[in-house]
Amino acid sequence: KAVDPGIQLVKDRLEAVKHKILILSGKGGVGKSTLTALLSRGIAQRNSELNVAVLDIDICGPSQPRVLGVNGEQVHQSGSGWSPVYVEDNLSVMSIGFLLSSVDDAIIWRGPKKNGMIRQFLSEVDWGNLDYLLMDTPPGTSDEHLSAATYLAKAGLTGAIIITTPQEVALLDVRKEVDFCRKLNINILGVIENMSIFVCPCCQRQSEIFPATTGGAQRMCNEFNIPFLGSLPLDPKLARCCDEGKDYLTELPGSPAMKALTSIVDIY
Ligand code: ADP
Repeated sequence: KAVDPGIQLVKDRLEAVKHKILILSGKGGVGKSTLTALLSRGIAQRNSELNVAVLDIDICGPSQPRVLGVNGEQVHQSGSGWSPVYVEDNLSVMSIGFLLSSVDDAIIWRGPKKNGMIRQFLSEVDWGNLDYLLMDTPPGTSDEHLSAATYLAKAGLTGAIIITTPQEVALLDVRKEVDFCRKLNINILGVIENMSIFVCPCCQRQSEIFPATTGGAQRMCNEFNIPFLGSLPLDPKLARCCDEGKDYLTELPGSPAMKALTSIVDIY
């Protein structure tokens, strides 16, 4: 069977990027895009000498332009490829959201077309020198994941971070993500549990939102022998910042989610 020439193009473009990380989740709505944006901002802010980029390969539901506060920006093509949109001097983003004429446009594509788009995203964006490339993916394990894993195999994928919430249903789907990674030989960097507890902004009291599952993600990590990277509480201010595309990390220093995130970025 003929080898897809895109694999070599992706290797040429991305081989020098030190850390290439897929962000996965079993279900939608668990905070995968939010965490991708926060982790990238966190890494970029901790060290201004590191260059960080986000690639949004959630083709049918791109949310990085909004979460990173660059909705409506344009990407340009030059001789060396597509120029990404810069959120900060050392943080850039590329998303199909920049190519749509309206944020309400629905993308209804079959697998091969999505595959072509992902190949272009991975091989044609001119990132400059990059230390971290965080890739936001759709929920579950679909065409997009298979395409990305195939194209990145030769370029050297660092691994995947899996985002989950503590409910049993979400944890069950994490097991499928773990299985997917193992079948495709993708290194699992670890699991982040999002919305693990709610810290009341008025009285600081901590409440569990999903009953009887506290510590479920940690236990599952122990069972599968994969790292547990930490947890992020449900924080209404975080949701507001992300909806408005504001930088949560600098807007609200010291919030419960911020503390959790800092320790996750530290670990990483
Ligand atoms: P996914 O990418 O997994 O579909 P999103 O990142 O889009 O999920 O998050 C879904 C919604 O939940 C968004 O409105 C987001 O702002 C909100 N959200 C995510 N994580 C948190 C959190 N820790 N606290 C409060 N709201 C959150």
